[in-house]
Amino acid sequence: MNRPRVLTDYHLHLRSDDLDATAERHFTAANAERYRTVASERGIAELGVSEHVYRFEQALEVWRHPFWQENARDDLDEYCAFVREQTDLRLGIEADFMPGTEDRMANLLQAHDFDYVIGSVHFLREGAVDMEDYSVWDSNPTHPRSPEEIWRRYFQTLGEAARSGLFDILAHPDLVKVWGAERPRPEGDPRSYYELALEGIAESGVAVEVSTAGLRKRAQELYPAPAFLQMCLEAGAQVALSSDAHCPEEVGADYERALELLEQMGVSELCVFDHRERRLEPIGDLVT
Ligand SMILES: [Zn+2]
Ligand SMILES: [Zn+2]
Repeated sequence: MNRPRVLTDYHLHLRSDDLDATAERHFTAANAERYRTVASERGIAELGVSEHVYRFEQALEVWRHPFWQENARDDLDEYCAFVREQTDLRLGIEADFMPGTEDRMANLLQAHDFDYVIGSVHFLREGAVDMEDYSVWDSNPTHPRSPEEIWRRYFQTLGEAARSGLFDILAHPDLVKVWGAERPRPEGDPRSYYELALEGIAESGVAVEVSTAGLRKRAQELYPAPAFLQMCLEAGAQVALSSDAHCPEEVGADYERALELLEQMGVSELCVFDHRERRLEPIGDLVT
């Protein structure tokens, strides 16, 4: 039997991260259609949205970080109803992992009928990995954290995120490199840090996201680094392919680079999600 071949883009945001990018203006059928149009032109048929959980008021029941308090403005039920009723996109969400909030996050996620949940580590305790504000990199100027400590905590937390069972997909798995040369990197072989997340990834069976977003950041690299992807694959992980687009033009951005890496690594199938059930489909052709 011939199985359908498919390209996916599951990590999409219908708006930028600016607070003035409102739900009213961006959660519209016409805006969703713009993403669908670009995806179709690039041969990507399997599409889903994954707005940041912290932009919804309900997230404050999980965590009350000042950044979340500033961002939590929209209603999660309205977002879910909009995606289901006014678009043909899969319904996902990008949810943060913070140790200690697992039960509350589980309650929030279980109360909604998602096709998939993407788990992200953006914060190490109160400190942000990838934002200038609340930055973990300079949160204590008199005793700056060493890159070794930040990388160690980041990958340990990523492993805990996998193990929590809250998520179907682990987003941008080595996000800690997002700043590229603008932040110090630990000395030596990064695999000793990747190793810290690996047991959780292996035991949970969570899908690992290959994301082209890092190519658009200072890192200028795919997430995850090839060596980390290889370790995940050897641990039995399956791959979810996404762009982390925040506007229609970014849908499927740089997929040729991601597909080249997947081919080099011998990956021939991608994860497809439906109501939090996962199956694998052979990788389709990109239209360039
Ligand atoms: Zn993210
Ligand atoms: Zn995202």
